[in-house]
Amino acid sequence: MKHAPEPLSFEKSRSGVAPPRLPEAGVPSRATVPDHHRRRRAPELPRLSEPELLRHYSRLAALNFSISEHFYPLGSCTMKYNPVANEEAARLPGFAQLHPYQEEASIQGALELMWRLEQALCAIVGVDRVTLQPAAGAHGEWTALRMIQAFFESRGEERPEVIVPDSAHGTNPASAAMCGFSVVQVRSGADGRVDVADLHSKLSARTAALMLTNPNTLGLFEKEILAMAAAVHAVGAKLYYDGANLNALMGICRPGDMGFDAVHLNLHKTFTTPHGGGGPGAGPVGVKVDLAPFLPRPTVEAEGGGYRFDFDRPLSIGRVRSFYGNFGMLVRAYAYILAMGSDGLAQASQDAVLAANYLRKRVEHLLHLPYAGYCMHEFVASAGRVADGRVRALDIAKGLLERGIHAPTVYFPLIVPEALMIEPTETESKATLDTFVETLVEIVELANSDPAALRGEPRSLPISRLDEVAAARQPVLRWSPTLDSGENAAADRSSPQGAPRQPQAVPAPTA
Ligand SMILES: *Cc1c(COP(=O)(O)O)cnc(C)c1O
Repeated sequence: MKHAPEPLSFEKSRSGVAPPRLPEAGVPSRATVPDHHRRRRAPELPRLSEPELLRHYSRLAALNFSISEHFYPLGSCTMKYNPVANEEAARLPGFAQLHPYQEEASIQGALELMWRLEQALCAIVGVDRVTLQPAAGAHGEWTALRMIQAFFESRGEERPEVIVPDSAHGTNPASAAMCGFSVVQVRSGADGRVDVADLHSKLSARTAALMLTNPNTLGLFEKEILAMAAAVHAVGAKLYYDGANLNALMGICRPGDMGFDAVHLNLHKTFTTPHGGGGPGAGPVGVKVDLAPFLPRPTVEAEGGGYRFDFDRPLSIGRVRSFYGNFGMLVRAYAYILAMGSDGLAQASQDAVLAANYLRKRVEHLLHLPYAGYCMHEFVASAGRVADGRVRALDIAKGLLERGIHAPTVYFPLIVPEALMIEPTETESKATLDTFVETLVEIVELANSDPAALRGEPRSLPISRLDEVAAARQPVLRWSPTLDSGENAAADRSSPQGAPRQPQAVPAPTA
């Protein structure tokens, strides 16, 4: 493996350079921090001049793949353009400089924004209440399942099972397991949709919920959704909507109307708040009225012409996030919704579906499409037949990266071998989609003429091929200083001995 061309700032640090000067602390630390919590020696901050530091971070930033520089058809992740106007809104001093401990009377604008965003999301997905606290989709899943669990506990019903399709995103069974449910799998049929007969055989009085995404992770609309909702409700269970695929149907139809009782939304997917690289997300959860008493505390209520937090919710599952969620994301999502209006949101979804179908049609002679017919906002192809199986989905993904296009999601969903999951989103031009197709043609030609050459790519990027297994099993998540003694060495005893100091691979993202 090649090393990243940019060493860590700690590795570049020179002892001859003066330590960084920090601004005066705004609080009297001597008075407030007890002696035993105060550090005994200065932190080992890297010693570099200001221009050196600036160049360091600029070079690191240039190593990124990002939506502001590249087409990013990462299926299931809705990597759409993040409007710059959203950033302006989030940067308004009245929003950016709030402190979460301010008095309610001094944050009426922020509370109003949260209240209005809740109303907008309720209208878009067809639910009665929304919590804005969860920090991501997976966190939203967990929050909703906790509410469903609390709902059944309050009725004295024991329902230990959650049903999840075999095509589901990995976070679905993970969230269910983290809540203490046992996960029951339901099969997909030959058409890529839930096998309704199999679902009937799995539903019982032990079922707490069925978790579904619609369109599903294959980009296919679950046409039997009303029958499935009726079957779930007939055994007294709840229907949960994984809203990661909402970009296919905003303003066109609503999960609430399909019979879903709880819905999470990924503001960082559908509602243009930036994501990727582990930055802040937001996974609000909407619920129908009978789950509303269990919402996390506090809710925001409109009262007497103003707004207030309501902590007095005895059945609440409690707080699920410090303070009130990732507020900056809420501002961006609200700005987007206002700018688009309901017609604009519907147009966005229609364009997303059109773009995906255009690409699907244009790549059908290059890749194998396991499911016939139209897709929604994304589609799943298989690379299993490219060059008679001499290359893999991973090789095609790396070939795209080499040519300046972010790879599609690979090897997900699990039920399609050598899966490439492609989601162009509505924000890309036809010219960009055509460039993608031309690039894919070039890669498939190379796969046929010289598969070994494709397997050697990428050649021009800082990192070529990774040991994916080691990266997933033995991640080295922090750099340890090579100090021989003192506090730092003691603090680092927990890290693996002799761990290599090199950039770590992360598993292929599906979020
Ligand atoms: C992204 C995604 C999730 C999880 O959302 P995060 O915000 O990444 O936690 C869940 N389900 C599906 C189908 C997704 O695409």
